[in-house]
Amino acid sequence: MKIAIIKELAEGERRVAGTPETVKKFKALGAEVAVEAGAGLTADIADQDYAAMGAALGDRAATVAGADIILGVQGPDPASIAGAKPGAWIVAGLNPFAERARVDAYAAAGYEALAMEFMPRITRAQSMDILSSQSNLAGYKAVLDAAHEYGRAFPMMMTAAGTISPARAFVMGVGVAGLQAIATAKRLGAQVSATDVRSATKEQIESLGAKAIFVESVAGIEGEGKGGYATEMSEEYRKAQAELVSSHIARQDIVITTALIPGKPAPRLITDAQIASMKPGSVIVDLAVEQGGNVEGAVAGQVVERHGVKIVGHKNVPSRLAADASALFARNLYNFLSAFWNKDQNAPVLDEEIGNAIRITQGGKVVSERLL
Ligand code: NAD
Repeated sequence: MKIAIIKELAEGERRVAGTPETVKKFKALGAEVAVEAGAGLTADIADQDYAAMGAALGDRAATVAGADIILGVQGPDPASIAGAKPGAWIVAGLNPFAERARVDAYAAAGYEALAMEFMPRITRAQSMDILSSQSNLAGYKAVLDAAHEYGRAFPMMMTAAGTISPARAFVMGVGVAGLQAIATAKRLGAQVSATDVRSATKEQIESLGAKAIFVESVAGIEGEGKGGYATEMSEEYRKAQAELVSSHIARQDIVITTALIPGKPAPRLITDAQIASMKPGSVIVDLAVEQGGNVEGAVAGQVVERHGVKIVGHKNVPSRLAADASALFARNLYNFLSAFWNKDQNAPVLDEEIGNAIRITQGGKVVSERLL
């Protein structure tokens, strides 16, 4: 069993799918591990750190040659792994809806592609969930990015020269990223409020010491659908939410948006008129910018200014914390493969529930129901 850890080639991607720690653990399972030279450099991991744990360092062709499993953060360009053997597993965040041509190429080459972002949200798979580990860091970094762009302090400061009042921060969308954003903004001393369409988040917001802002006036609403994810809301709800948010947002200094609906474009939560109602110098961070954006006028990969308000649209926010994001991503992959490791075969053997959820190509075909 040979496991290959390859260098990420996508623009702006600084993470790596394996660390010296996971190399050591894979070796302990009985696998051989090959690492592409330079794969860890942007995540502060030197080649010799991998080698010290028993990895074979080489160029890309040598790394993928004969590999049974190729690990990536993002799915590799099929041309870049042309020497890999048919039947090899590609285990990564494959972004299969946006990268459909790539998925078809994996199928044509006979690879078995496993999309880690399709991991079911069940208790036993929590430690394998790349979406959670990466969103958590993105929520944290979003607040730091906001603080960086904000021309004022977050906490209340009582000084001999007078008092500075605390920043007001509002978090829209309280999943994994939103919860971490609330906790981080609180730790920095902001006055924090938050909203979501799932009523279960109300208690979570309050338990972090923040104020919950919720639509109460529309009867029979509950935004939680399958797998704990949000559903699209009714027109009536959206109107009530917009009114509630409009009056609240005008008083905020910092807004962090994280709202996503699986398989749909991100819901639009903040309009240009609402941005215009905010004080100049306020900052909005749109973590959903790559999925269409929660904020009107947000631009992926840029910080733009509208009505004196900065709108931050950094791409690939977890990659901005490449060392920690890589450490957690690599552990997710190790937790996944080791949970299914069959000692006799010296290889992972997936069960039906998880295998069917994440396997997107097999035997020359696209097999995921979500892609058919
Ligand atoms: P997500 O990234 O899909 O969405 C972010 C948040 O945006 C969600 O809380 C969602 O309700 C909210 N949202 C969507 N539309 C909105 C709107 N119009 N207005 C305001 N908010 C809106 O969410 P996530 O971080 O992946 O978490 C989704 C759920 O999955 C949570 O309940 C989380 O606890 C759960 N979860 C379970 C596991 C597991 O059991 N393995 C792992 C991770 C997350």
